[in-house]
Amino acid sequence: MTHSAGSEPSTRTERPSTPRTIIEPSRETPVCRETEVLVVGGGPAGVAAAVAAARNGADTTLIERYNHLGGMATGGLVILIPHMSAGTAEQEVAGICQEIVDRLDAMGGARHPNRKLLGSADRNVIKKLEHYHDFVVDDRVRMSVIVDPELLKCVLNDMIEESGVKLFLHSWGTKALVDSNTVTGAIFESKSGRQAILSQRSIDCTGDGDIFASAGSEFEGAVDHSLRSGMLAVVFRLGEVDYLQFSNFRQSEPETYKGIMDEIRAIGGFPLLPIATHRDDQVWVNNWVPGNDCLNVEHLTSAEVRVRKVMRKAHEILKRKMPGFEKSFLLDTASQIGTRGSRRLLGEHMVTAEELRMGVVYQDTIAAIPRFTQNVSVHTPNRSIPYRALVPRLTENLLVAGRCFSSDVIANDVLNLIPFCVQMGEAAGTAAALSLADGVSPRGLNYQKLQRRLLEQGAWLPREIRRSLTAAESVPTLFGQ
Ligand SMILES: Cc1cc2nc3c(=O)[nH]c(=O)nc-3n(C[C@H](O)[C@H](O)[C@H](O)COP(=O)(O)OP(=O)(O)OC[C@H]3O[C@@H](n4cnc5c(N)ncnc54)[C@H](O)[C@@H]3O)c2cc1C
Repeated sequence: MTHSAGSEPSTRTERPSTPRTIIEPSRETPVCRETEVLVVGGGPAGVAAAVAAARNGADTTLIERYNHLGGMATGGLVILIPHMSAGTAEQEVAGICQEIVDRLDAMGGARHPNRKLLGSADRNVIKKLEHYHDFVVDDRVRMSVIVDPELLKCVLNDMIEESGVKLFLHSWGTKALVDSNTVTGAIFESKSGRQAILSQRSIDCTGDGDIFASAGSEFEGAVDHSLRSGMLAVVFRLGEVDYLQFSNFRQSEPETYKGIMDEIRAIGGFPLLPIATHRDDQVWVNNWVPGNDCLNVEHLTSAEVRVRKVMRKAHEILKRKMPGFEKSFLLDTASQIGTRGSRRLLGEHMVTAEELRMGVVYQDTIAAIPRFTQNVSVHTPNRSIPYRALVPRLTENLLVAGRCFSSDVIANDVLNLIPFCVQMGEAAGTAAALSLADGVSPRGLNYQKLQRRLLEQGAWLPREIRRSLTAAESVPTLFGQ
């Protein structure tokens, strides 16, 4: 049943068989800004995209729905940036991701292995570092970074401000503006009302693909609830913990530790896992709540309520039974719910689990993925993400970066980690600015020009890509061939 806004809804008591709808009156929406590049979503991908676009000369605007930048890495309390290297002395993830770490280091806001130790298999070194998640993998030291989420918010603000990006916080991007199949901006809602921003290039970094979905781009929505990306979370932190006492206990008495964790899992039927923070007197508690859809507001609501209930019982057990937690207290809960998997773009190329297994390095690689074994069925020495996975198939002047990039459900589960989202963001922002400067659409951009610029900016790309760039004179785009 439809009715116009303003008319009284029917008072019938029987349930309508189809959802009722209303038709809103048409309205004039003020244009508050015209910009060259509009980035929607200020998480790891969005900040990198905005900074890269602005540094490459584009007038850039970033809108973010919450009061801070960083997305899951700050508001979600997901404070581990893992796998920036693969267990050798070389560090593959660099560029803006490394800049963030350097800035945090200068403030005492990051914990990670000393760079000189990367690749080490020295038992004494390993013994000290293996207390910390992903600092040691397969008996080798690798670059993984634990961040202070509050200082990270400050670092990201600084980077946005210094690069000259116009920032709107408290601004929820609700709808792409589309002319035929070309995105021309977006509408957002805030305390100032409903406003529009017109843009020449737009980048969807909402994590959920809100902009490409409303632009009519093709996407896949199905998540696999047996994978981590199919589960929600409400992360929380506990203070006044003795983390090293806890970690030593976990190593020396694995059976007792497992018994306590099983008891905690039984409370709500899902696991909760204490993980190290940048300080040894705190932990963050990750969790995996199954059976929810992160695009369903009722699921989001019930997960928020359910996890907080479970959290209090789990904390009681930790205090009573887990060495190191006796004096602990609830420090905080995440200000934004943890959403791992959502809409995935159908781009010019979809990264698949099979490609990860084969170890494909695409000729248009824009992100290097160090080997790691998050999903044991996908274990290869070489992984990468191509530029084409950021380019929608049918929509023009739109790029997509972060966890909603074009990938199948398993590849997404493996590749949607923070360091890889930052690399995608840096590539998308750079591509948007280069495509403007060259007067071509993002689809028509010479991908080797993009790769060269990424290397100049300090990014790392696989050896075969660097070799091909030295050899190449002029290269066509990958599209329309
Ligand atoms: C509980 C949990 C644990 C995880 N553990 C790890 C881990 O240990 N290490 C790791 O690397 N990764 C981990 N991940 C995955 C990782 O955090 C995400 O995949 C990554 O943060 C995605 O980055 P993003 O920028 O694409 O999206 P997000 O981090 O989700 O950022 C999206 C941003 O867009 C904003 N936004 C969304 N919609 C709109 C809109 N319509 N208008 C305006 N703004 C909008 C959001 O507020 C947010 O700031 C974990 C994820 C979860 C949930």
